[in-house]
Amino acid sequence: MLYRKLGHTDLNVSLLGFGASPLGNVFGAVDPSEATRAVLFAIDDGINFFDVSPYYGLTLAEKRLGEALAGHRDKVVLATKCGRYGVNEFDFSARMVTRSLEDSLRRLKTDYVDLFQVHDVEFGDIQQIINETIPAMRQVQEQGKARYIGITGYPLKMLARILETIPVDSVLNYCRYNLMCVDMDALLTPVVEKLGIGLINASPLHMGVLTRQGAPDWHPTSPDVREAAMKAATVANELGLDLSDLALRFCLDHPYVSSTVVGMSTQRQVEQNVKALQSSPHQTIPGALEEILSPVRNHVWISGRLENQQ
Ligand code: NAD
Repeated sequence: MLYRKLGHTDLNVSLLGFGASPLGNVFGAVDPSEATRAVLFAIDDGINFFDVSPYYGLTLAEKRLGEALAGHRDKVVLATKCGRYGVNEFDFSARMVTRSLEDSLRRLKTDYVDLFQVHDVEFGDIQQIINETIPAMRQVQEQGKARYIGITGYPLKMLARILETIPVDSVLNYCRYNLMCVDMDALLTPVVEKLGIGLINASPLHMGVLTRQGAPDWHPTSPDVREAAMKAATVANELGLDLSDLALRFCLDHPYVSSTVVGMSTQRQVEQNVKALQSSPHQTIPGALEEILSPVRNHVWISGRLENQQ
């Protein structure tokens, strides 16, 4: 396994991170014992960065991850979040920051997290995030319950604006740097590099789009993107390749991202994704796949409040 420092922090995170949202049945029902096997197998393979949230499966993912990590807490860099608690349930208040972390710690069976993040800032009022949420997170950090703090979300310009206004330790961005979309490097990476903040790239498979099984029904992307990805998966197969391997490898080659976080819930997925990491870097994408994907590249959707899209 390869590790990178997360920005200015002293956290050395695995280049391949374990996204725990599938443990909350977000992509379909998961066998709990298989999920535990996936977590333990990942640790054995050197994956140390685990990302979760109370939102995933409405606390189920945290509970399952907490159970799987029992006796292994010291081997992992554990990240969770606050602020989002349902599809349309948000609370970015200072009071909730404190309560949310206490609840997460109980479910995760630990007395601190390594990284505590505001979940999907674009659903909040930016002034509240800056003046209330983040300062409250600094307070729980001072109490030793979170080692570092960060923000997460989808709209790049809003994330950059927050980072330029108030210091945080990391930013997690999703679906903006992978085979389907690369605008993170134009709109967020330069700011993050300038400030020396840790950058986490989530959803390298575009939340399931870049897989043979395709995206779940709730996925916000357009039918064109789904169709192109399905076609690309078939063509990759005909070439003796796996679209998910190519997609993950593409993300792992990013020069600044500390951890590429992929959602996993089975031992087989962990094995396959670790193998993708061990494959030779800078694999070029076959022309036939590029032809299918480039017309739908950088199609984005609206996430959160309209005023937070810019
Ligand atoms: P992803 O792009 O990682 O795709 C996950 C899907 O791909 C799941 O269905 C999984 O079973 C499947 N998969 C994994 N490996 C595979 C393989 N080798 N072959 C075929 N299918 C495979 O999307 P994601 O899970 O949404 O993102 C990863 C993680 O990033 C999440 O679990 C979460 O921890 C984090 N995340 C955070 C935010 C946020 O904070 N706002 C948003 C999105 C994701």
